[in-house]
Amino acid sequence: MTKTVYEYKRPKTLLNKGTGFLAGYTHSLNPYTGCTFGCSYCYVRQMPVSLFRGDEWGSWVDIKQEAAELLQAELRKAKSKGPVTVFMSSSTDPYQPIEHKEQITRSLLEVMAEERPQFLLVQTRSPLVRRDIDILLRFGSQVRVSMTVETDLEHIRKSFTPGAPPIQARLQALRDLAEAGVPVQAAVAPMLPCSGNFAELLRPIVSRVCIDDYWMGDGSGGKRTRRLGIESLYEQLGLEQWYGPTAYRTVYDQFKRLFAEEELYISQQGFEP
Ligand code: SF4
Repeated sequence: MTKTVYEYKRPKTLLNKGTGFLAGYTHSLNPYTGCTFGCSYCYVRQMPVSLFRGDEWGSWVDIKQEAAELLQAELRKAKSKGPVTVFMSSSTDPYQPIEHKEQITRSLLEVMAEERPQFLLVQTRSPLVRRDIDILLRFGSQVRVSMTVETDLEHIRKSFTPGAPPIQARLQALRDLAEAGVPVQAAVAPMLPCSGNFAELLRPIVSRVCIDDYWMGDGSGGKRTRRLGIESLYEQLGLEQWYGPTAYRTVYDQFKRLFAEEELYISQQGFEP
């Protein structure tokens, strides 16, 4: 396994305009550039930030220095122009392992708890988000933590995202957040092959689930995912029937038996403010 290269960078801007899949948000916010979870299907691999870098996605991370000060200034300015809604994060995981030490995400949350956006969505797959329950509670209903749980099968998780946290740890984090009173959702996104008990597993933990797949959710109608060659992983595993634009419907039907319609979201609508 190659060693991760960490670099400190001083960004010129932190808040980016919400576009495409995130058009429902005024801004997106990424505390880091790069992501050591290195998921096989990560569409950021196909985006300029990764392509121009040249190095393998997952092997490098830029740590944004003096981010809190910059965000405070940008947020004030943006809020003076109108309501601000923030999606954190679109091209990195704000709670990847380096956050334990660097606490960039925590510092950004501190700023936003003071200079409160109208709505903040925190998108992660890391149980480390629990550390910040104290700040998240200050947002009341103006925040939602969306935890990626693409499957309930740990061996599938290991095949597709060997560098990401185990499923059980994410479920426990969701339980802890919900019990503390932080609004949460489980993001089955992108949906991976799963068991017939997936909905049953999530039912006692969350009352909001979003299901997404490569075709609806990779921002290019599935083209980026095709370029990544993910289909061959399904073939190697003998799971080709799970790779296709209609495969999600079976899982959606499974969830529909246990979740009310207003608790279930499909793709983009589940990530909107
Ligand atoms: S956690 Fe998200 S940003 Fe990081 S590699 Fe996985 S899909 Fe990409």
